[in-house]
Amino acid sequence: MGMEVAFAGRSNSGKSSAINTLTNRTRLAFVSKTPGRTQLINFFRLGEEGDQRYLVDLPGYGYAAVPEKIRLHWRGVLSTYLQTRSSLRGLVLIMDIRRPLTDLDRQMLEWFKYTGNPVHVLLTKSDKLNRQQAMATLRAVEKELAVIYPGATAQLFSTPKHQGMEEAERVIAKWFEP
Ligand code: GDP
Repeated sequence: MGMEVAFAGRSNSGKSSAINTLTNRTRLAFVSKTPGRTQLINFFRLGEEGDQRYLVDLPGYGYAAVPEKIRLHWRGVLSTYLQTRSSLRGLVLIMDIRRPLTDLDRQMLEWFKYTGNPVHVLLTKSDKLNRQQAMATLRAVEKELAVIYPGATAQLFSTPKHQGMEEAERVIAKWFEP
């Protein structure tokens, strides 16, 4: 049976950049697109053909210009996926470090909580803050996560600075272990 790790985050949070960086490093194969109304769910296979491990790129949320009807459609897709997908092993939640834990991020955690599956937060664009500010934000997010999603972990991540790649890969690889 297939195993999946999903990536979710607000639009413009840096989700595509994070997935691209991680997939380029590990030479993931792009597998399929599921056509939606305005956005796609993309599946990336880890490893060689026949490998049953996938990274799943969920549609970005929170983009103000999306019409209400489409927003509700994707809300349904996301909540159903997060709550019922049996092959899902964990959720990587992407947040711009300058705007962490928005209401919609909290909504994702709320839906996912009942699965008992692990969550790892990437605080992207950490290069936008100085080291001290970035660490303070990381600690604040960890503290909040301990309350709203016990066991969830978080880290700093920067695509241009190549910060946090190994750490993210380690967490994801562990979730795929049998
Ligand atoms: P998505 O909508 O969540 O998929 O976000 P994108 O990956 O398309 O990134 C949105 C914008 O943020 C783009 O202009 C990226 O170049 C920029 N970006 C993404 N990650 C980083 C990062 O780690 N550091 C900086 N400085 N910019 C980033």
